[in-house]
Amino acid sequence: MIVIKDMNKWYGDFHVLKDINLTVKKGERIVVCGPSGSGKSTMIRCINRLEQFQRGSLTVNDVEMIDDVKNIEAIRREVGMVFQHFNLFPHLSILDNLTLGPIWVQKKSKEEAEAIAMKYLERVKIPDQAHKFPGHLSGGQQQRVAIARSLCMAPEIILFDEPTSALDPEMIKEVLDVMVELAEEGMTMICVTHEMGFAKKVADRVIFMDGGEIVEQNTPHEFFDHPETDRLQLFLSQIL
Ligand code: ADP
Ligand code: MG
Repeated sequence: MIVIKDMNKWYGDFHVLKDINLTVKKGERIVVCGPSGSGKSTMIRCINRLEQFQRGSLTVNDVEMIDDVKNIEAIRREVGMVFQHFNLFPHLSILDNLTLGPIWVQKKSKEEAEAIAMKYLERVKIPDQAHKFPGHLSGGQQQRVAIARSLCMAPEIILFDEPTSALDPEMIKEVLDVMVELAEEGMTMICVTHEMGFAKKVADRVIFMDGGEIVEQNTPHEFFDHPETDRLQLFLSQIL
């Protein structure tokens, strides 16, 4: 579904992504971890073109990325994204946040978009919040809305960028539970997270990034029990 070949990116002189190679198959669940500043967000933002890269190639569902608006729109349709800070529109109700994309991008009718929105709000277990505004919801509820919003666009893959790291501890589980359900239903996903319990439970593969490189990748069992590089051993000793 996603093929990244020799992706390189610089911010000015700073080489932020170095020869990234990554293939994600349909239905695969990938967890990405690594120290702060290692390039995890930059890599996944390159996948849905929130950032540009200077060298290498990216193919999503057999569509090769080129710098063309139509092409970027095509990728955005297939790739959903959930951010650390939810990024809901504060002045719109939950329902309006969810129907915005389906109405304006997918040209669905208001009625159809609202039916889809309610279906996914039920799926993330907060249909009763539909008419409230984001500021009236807890962080965990807002993040579940953000996941529902992504699902409303029927993406082929969802990218998560540290979806629980801005949440109070008691809200982390309600968001992870939704993510586990999605994973078990076969959604293709790339999750940047340090929730190692989640990684062990659902990941097909765990990737360790450091200094802009993919240093190591393996099945969760091998990754956690037999880390090969000193860098990963050090990282795991710090977070576990
Ligand atoms: P991570 O998500 O792993 O914490 P990021 O991908 O956010 O790392 O950032 C990787 C590196 O790139 C960091 O050193 C960060 O300071 C730098 N960086 C991120 N965004 C920008 C930007 N817009 N301009 C310049 N440097 C940036
Ligand atoms: Mg980040």
